[in-house]
Amino acid sequence: LPSTILHADLDAFFASVEQRDDPALRGRPVIVGGGVVLAASYEARAFGVRGAMGGRRARTLCPHAVVVPPRMKAYSAASRAVFAVFRDTSPLVEGVSIDEAFLDVRGLERIAGAPHEIAARLRARVRTEIGLPLTVGVARTKHLAKIASGLAKPDGLLVVADDPRSERDFLHPLAVERIWGVGPKSAAVLHAAGLNTIGELAAAGEDVLVALLGRHAGRHLHRLATNHDPRPVRAGRRRRSMGSQSALGRRARSEAEIDAVLMALVERVMRRMRRAGLGCRTVVLRLRFGDYARATRSSSLRRATRRTDTVLGLARGLLAACAPLIAERGLTLIGISLTSLTDDDGAQLELPFDGRPAVLDDALDQVRDRFGANAIRRAALVHRTIGPAMPTLPDRPDEPGR
Ligand SMILES: [Mg+2]
Repeated sequence: LPSTILHADLDAFFASVEQRDDPALRGRPVIVGGGVVLAASYEARAFGVRGAMGGRRARTLCPHAVVVPPRMKAYSAASRAVFAVFRDTSPLVEGVSIDEAFLDVRGLERIAGAPHEIAARLRARVRTEIGLPLTVGVARTKHLAKIASGLAKPDGLLVVADDPRSERDFLHPLAVERIWGVGPKSAAVLHAAGLNTIGELAAAGEDVLVALLGRHAGRHLHRLATNHDPRPVRAGRRRRSMGSQSALGRRARSEAEIDAVLMALVERVMRRMRRAGLGCRTVVLRLRFGDYARATRSSSLRRATRRTDTVLGLARGLLAACAPLIAERGLTLIGISLTSLTDDDGAQLELPFDGRPAVLDDALDQVRDRFGANAIRRAALVHRTIGPAMPTLPDRPDEPGR
């Protein structure tokens, strides 16, 4: 297989949109978001400012930075425009997030040229038609293409030739952190075991990695380190649902405990959904009772959302409606699934990220992406202030104890 997979990633996306729309910001350090840094321009990164960093620390590092509030509508529109160019470039486009996608350009040689030519043209088009810098990595696999774009940033193009030797020479000297999915926590475990480069991971063997990181992660990492990545680019990939569940054991649980579990489940699955660049319209609650009976309840919104508070509100309403059953039978498992998933670069999604809570969701996602899922536990207090307001719930009985 030749190198036909492109990983296209906008540089400092939110900050670049700000610099595009306000010429006074060009060439200057720009920080988007005052509380937590949502994005930093490369001029600000030169001073050590990073996404998900506290605003105060960012301003200490770079006192002359211009701090601007996020304009999610503008970013959403820019994302749609860029994805339109992606789809115009290849029929095989798989969105990864709001500013990132894989494109497979195989079979386009005759009409559009070699992959590196297509990649160069794509970068030029996004620059001239939309006004944003785009970095592209080109390789035989998704993993190599993703690493290549990371190394080529900002505003670059890097092609990994498709022979095994070039690929190995490219991959092996890199730090383990370059592997897609290795966060600070896994990296620390690997470093502690003396494994610092991808080549060292490959040489260590699968058993060692499984012992360090567990079966699933260890195997996955070994495959990537040894350059096995058969994952294809899937156009318009649409997962039908996404879910998470938690067993509670047989002990009786208070309403507050159950609510805390529900909140954690909703947080987890919403984060995954947002990371996949999706929104959801339907929330499904699954319960298993002490007598092993099960119940499933669902509720739909008229428009898709990406907001944790909205979905949590629906889930709480569904749970409250089951309170009599829970009281009678005891609860041993809770699950939440999101269905009617929608790409958020499509037009269907009702500006979910236009209010404060959604901005907060994105900020929290970024902090967790950098520092691990437990870096921030959203204070239960945040949600206590959110009213029940759930007009779309069917036949919801009064909610005792709320
Ligand atoms: Mg990006």
